[in-house]
Amino acid sequence: MHEMSIARSIIDIVEKEMAEHSAKHLKAVNISVGKMAAVAAHQLEWWFNIMVSETAEMTGATLSVKTVPLSYRCPGCGAEFTSEELALKCRECGAGHPSLTGGTELTVESIEVD
Ligand SMILES: [Zn+2]
Repeated sequence: MHEMSIARSIIDIVEKEMAEHSAKHLKAVNISVGKMAAVAAHQLEWWFNIMVSETAEMTGATLSVKTVPLSYRCPGCGAEFTSEELALKCRECGAGHPSLTGGTELTVESIEVD
């Protein structure tokens, strides 16, 4: 049910944006999801499709999910790097425990409207 509430909050954000720009019909939503956000993209799309089909102004809209890698910052040397996997060491200096700075969030990047 995690994905259901995420889909709901995406729709809330989109509704607000559409109202602000007086958009009549939603065509597509582009979101990015961090690798650590623990979101199942296909379940999210499934809920999204159900929710948009219940509205007049969003019917047929598509959800495009982009996965973003984890990003880190080394507390030792200040290096910033991204990784597809959990990183335990800094890529630059080899120090342990780099801080996770990204890859845990879900962001609505853009919406396409008529
Ligand atoms: Zn470092």
